[in-house]
Amino acid sequence: MTDNISEKTPQAWDTLLEQYRHSAVETLAQHLRTGTRCEACGQPWPCRAACAAEATLEL
Ligand SMILES: [Zn+2]
Repeated sequence: MTDNISEKTPQAWDTLLEQYRHSAVETLAQHLRTGTRCEACGQPWPCRAACAAEATLEL
C-alpha cells in the first residue's frame, strides 16, 4: 500500500516550514528599524534580511 507516502510529505514540509519561521522570527528580532535604517546591518529600512524574514512568515 502507498498510504504512508501521503502522510510523510506534508509532515516533512510542516517541519521545514516551522524551522524557516523560527529563523525568520529570530532575524526579525535582531533586524530592527532605527529611523530609516536597520539597527543590525545598517542598510536602508527595510533591509534584505528583514524583507526575507517577513516573506517567510507569509508562507
Ligand atoms: Zn538588517
